[in-house]
Amino acid sequence: MRRTLHVGRQTCIATMRQILNRTPVLTTYLERALNFWNRVVQQGAEDLLYQCLEVEVNQPGTWGHQLIQVVHAAPCTHPSFIDAQGHPQVVEEKDIKMIIKAFVDREYDRAWGRPRALRETARQVHVEGSLVRACPDGARDGFKHFKFMQWREGSPPDHKNKLNHQHAFAAFAHSTQHVRVLSNFFCGNLWLECETGRQTHEGRSDRVCNLCHNRALEPQDEMHLFRCPAFESLHHEYPRVFESRAYGNFIRAYYNKDLRVDDLFRKFLTQGGADFWSQLGDFLNDSQLLHARLSEMRPMNQELDDFEDDE
Ligand SMILES: [Zn+2]
Repeated sequence: MRRTLHVGRQTCIATMRQILNRTPVLTTYLERALNFWNRVVQQGAEDLLYQCLEVEVNQPGTWGHQLIQVVHAAPCTHPSFIDAQGHPQVVEEKDIKMIIKAFVDREYDRAWGRPRALRETARQVHVEGSLVRACPDGARDGFKHFKFMQWREGSPPDHKNKLNHQHAFAAFAHSTQHVRVLSNFFCGNLWLECETGRQTHEGRSDRVCNLCHNRALEPQDEMHLFRCPAFESLHHEYPRVFESRAYGNFIRAYYNKDLRVDDLFRKFLTQGGADFWSQLGDFLNDSQLLHARLSEMRPMNQELDDFEDDE
């Protein structure tokens, strides 16, 4: 998955899954396996497959036994697979759904527990404007996930829901160029100061934009990229991005120091649609080139590792 997306070695799976609108493999496999179990059980005691299954449930290492073990590992109440006499039973549809949901929820909690704690920290120091920027420099553990959650995470992955694909670029980005730049941007693998400053161990709030003519001294991060005067000359080339209502809402909230700015920024970035994704990809490519030219500096496409544990 990392190679397909052209992202760094440490990009975490939960994030990639989120931007691709994919649920864990287990959810697909388990559902199929349980449906197959049901089909066999419905064949009745005369059927050879049924008889095999009946033997399997008591034999460690077999398919039937393993399936039961997997379901028993689900963090929820377990339906009865076998009746008192040891005969396999049909698992109800709603139970299958419940088991899968329990697995997904547990994984979600594991992946997003730390960033949620960070959000609480940020809320305490938060006065106005963005929560991400209010997050103190010292709070490093899980910061990238937190930023992802606030700024780039769309609706929960569900590849069966067609509407959801709109909000993930995977279905629309076909060229390598687009895939590379969009996935790196969404995974937080950036050419901006907020990332490159990590290598020189600058404090997060010191990684400011040095391209701004008015020396706004604002962190050069994803949010700044879309309002930095240095890139304004590119805006008119991408009307679907910069003339969208979502962009207007975001930028207004930004200047008004509106508390919903993170929310609106995320909505802007995940508004989706084919045109939006391709124009966003082109803008990111162009701004990256312009950025390199303006700062006449670091080689492009440097190998940055995203989602490291220390930040
Ligand atoms: Zn700037």
